[in-house]
Amino acid sequence: MNKGPEVARGKTKILYQHPERRDAVIVSSQDSITAGDGAKRNTIKGKGRLAALTTARIFRLLNACGLPTHYLSGGEDEDDNEMVVRRCEMIPIEVVVRGVAAGSYLKRHPEVKEGSVFAPRLVEYFFKDDARHDPQYTAEQIVAEKLATPLELAEMTDVARLTFEILSHAWKRQDVLLVDLKVEFGRTATDAGATQVLLADVIDNDSWRIWPAGDPKRMLDKQLYRNMAAPTDSQLGGVKEKYEEVAERVAHFQKSAGGFVAIIMGSASDAPHAERIGKALSNLGIPNTKHVASAHKTPVYALARVEQTDSAMGHVVYVTIAGRSNALSAFVDAATPNPVIACPVIGTGWGGMEILSSLQLPSGVASLVVLEPENAALAAAKILGADDTVVFGRVLVTQYQSRKNVIESDARLSGPPPNGKAGA
Ligand code: 5GP
Repeated sequence: MNKGPEVARGKTKILYQHPERRDAVIVSSQDSITAGDGAKRNTIKGKGRLAALTTARIFRLLNACGLPTHYLSGGEDEDDNEMVVRRCEMIPIEVVVRGVAAGSYLKRHPEVKEGSVFAPRLVEYFFKDDARHDPQYTAEQIVAEKLATPLELAEMTDVARLTFEILSHAWKRQDVLLVDLKVEFGRTATDAGATQVLLADVIDNDSWRIWPAGDPKRMLDKQLYRNMAAPTDSQLGGVKEKYEEVAERVAHFQKSAGGFVAIIMGSASDAPHAERIGKALSNLGIPNTKHVASAHKTPVYALARVEQTDSAMGHVVYVTIAGRSNALSAFVDAATPNPVIACPVIGTGWGGMEILSSLQLPSGVASLVVLEPENAALAAAKILGADDTVVFGRVLVTQYQSRKNVIESDARLSGPPPNGKAGA
């Protein structure tokens, strides 16, 4: 890749100005591997390419889930250890999220057993300073030393947690436990002139601990290298094999499981409701089909539709838009072993009360009844997300955004009165 002048240099990467874009830099991952704040250093030929490959795959997954990262392109070509990222001002804090106790946590808390579960996850902050061995900082210290504002720190903490949950989900699908994870952030200017916090730096096999089947003896990450006093060439070869395995495994993170939603409406007059569900599903990246099939008027046709849909490749979730009797939901539910979400149209007109009173489904029917079209889409996404990390991540980010909206509304409404005198 064409590069401008060097901008900065770290222990394992070099940053160059992008030759054409002032708002972008090129990150070139090096073949070095270090531990003990740079005290131990070795070279593993090809590690830079594996680091760029792993980071690019992870940032692409996180971008697809809707998380703000600095990643723009590159890093995924076979012989390419370079990626293009948005230029940002780095915040010198390592944010560590821990799912189970390991590493430096055990040294600081010798009374805790390795592998003890943190629920909720534990978030810790470390100030980046090799000379002082990256001391742990409290949130108060970070704000007092003006490393980040309280709002930035809250955003960093939330995004670090979401990143952990998304990567934990991806690893769990491969029966690997994500033990802990380190991420870093940068700030950039938005088009509106404000600043925005972005996930930055790299997330590669140096950034986490991962234990297949939850077994520390089978670890795949950089801890293997940290544990070697003076690694031989053959030991370094063993480390490289793990990095290759991880880059290959990470390639599967974004693979879609091919799940989809079949929306079945009892009448063409339900189409606007179906459109709202379809739009919400598309926003979550879930393919969907729409059919009209009435349980009363076309039972044989409706059954054939369900049978056809069930035999398609990929997991299916049905959303039924039932009429006043809600019979379609019970009908589809009895015909398929797949999940059914009933989302009846409740108008303000004369049928509204009747539909509400008929929402009790007959016994033996397992449909979930959801009234808002957007919530029906979210319920379907939760089911499909079990098998699809992008969908899982989008649900998580959607829920996070709605929590944030509530908290921001509360802050606006419960703020001090305009003249600043409470009760005046
Ligand atoms: P610990 O604090 O237990 O040593 O590390 C916690 C997590 O952060 C681990 O997943 C570890 O790999 C990661 N980590 C800690 N320090 C660094 C660092 O300087 N660079 C990178 N890449 N990861 C780190």
